[in-house]
Amino acid sequence: MKALVLERQGELSLRDIDLPSDMGPTDVRIKLHTVGVCGSDVHYYTHGKIGDFVVTAPMVLGHEASGTVIEVGAAVTTLKAGDRVCMEPGVPDLTSRTSRLGLYNVDPAVTFWATPPVHGVLCGECVHPAAFTFKLPDTVSFAEGAMVEPFAVGMQAAKRAQIAPGDTAVVLGAGTIGIMTALAALAGGCARVLISDLSAEKLAIAERYDGITGIDIRQTPIVDAVAEVTAGWGADVVFECSGAQAAMTDLFRIVRPGGAIVFVGLPPDPVAIDISAATARECRMETVFRYANVFDRALDLIAAGKVDLTPLLSDTYPFDASIEAFDRAAEGRPSDVKLQIRVDTESEAP
Ligand code: NAD
Ligand code: ZN
Repeated sequence: MKALVLERQGELSLRDIDLPSDMGPTDVRIKLHTVGVCGSDVHYYTHGKIGDFVVTAPMVLGHEASGTVIEVGAAVTTLKAGDRVCMEPGVPDLTSRTSRLGLYNVDPAVTFWATPPVHGVLCGECVHPAAFTFKLPDTVSFAEGAMVEPFAVGMQAAKRAQIAPGDTAVVLGAGTIGIMTALAALAGGCARVLISDLSAEKLAIAERYDGITGIDIRQTPIVDAVAEVTAGWGADVVFECSGAQAAMTDLFRIVRPGGAIVFVGLPPDPVAIDISAATARECRMETVFRYANVFDRALDLIAAGKVDLTPLLSDTYPFDASIEAFDRAAEGRPSDVKLQIRVDTESEAP
């Protein structure tokens, strides 16, 4: 099967590769339609590893995917051939102790597309458990379906924050994940979201949404901006979505007493945080690792018109131009939020 293969750090090729294609009774076979380019795919391309996950053998990239079911296993009752779907890329061992605790996203046995040694889905077809495959409502496009995966990270962050109606949230970092988190926070009941970045382009994209106000921290320190909006009280929830050490410095000066800090960004190296400042406010701290049980809710929000991800789609490349898409993503243009690859170039469906 033709696939986009990361041969080794810095080297991509579009070539034939043998991929597992056996179906179990609870699996479905899916013809891929659209696959998004994620920061992690790009990081494997440019650095060859993320933390302990090292690319030591050729690996197919891509994990933000939508497509059409073309075959169902004998025991599958929830899906049928022809269904348009998006897929949750991480499959845990559902009998593990972690999964039984309700934390299947942190199950050490999880296999996650395009995380070594597991292949991703920038290829023609894949086989996936029906339990992790979600039917797209008729009004949700394949492009939107392939954006559910990064949006799910924002959904998980909003869930972990335990937002109350009318909360004020601050999101640090207006990258893909920061904007997705801001949208999930609004959908979860926040009255307003302030989002900070150093990039005017990124902030302009975030500000296309009602309820989101951008803070350019090169002009206004985040502490001043939050103090002004909340009359010195602080935000109910702070989502850290930059992963930058500089953003950690002010975390506890922008959260209200008893508020929540939700860590989403993954700093490449350990960072310092001010525990004394945190305890002085007795704030709650939460961490987010991917997501669990949010794909169906994300689709419901999109279908209900409460979340529109389409303004975040910056460009779409045909499968044959996948390497160009990755080179552009590696450039990191400030005006790009999400790049996608149309694997099924024959389909006219968006
Ligand atoms: P990104 O690089 O597109 O976005 C990060 C943004 O933060 C950039 O726009 C950058 O300009 C901005 N930034 C840098 N320093 C800042 C500062 N001091 N204050 C405010 N903004 C600042 O990355 P992304 O794809 O949006 O991902 C964001 C982070 O989330 C990354 O660290 C990524 O690894 C992490 N992530 C975590 C999970 C998870 O499961 N926890 C999942 C996906 C991504
Ligand atoms: Zn991703």
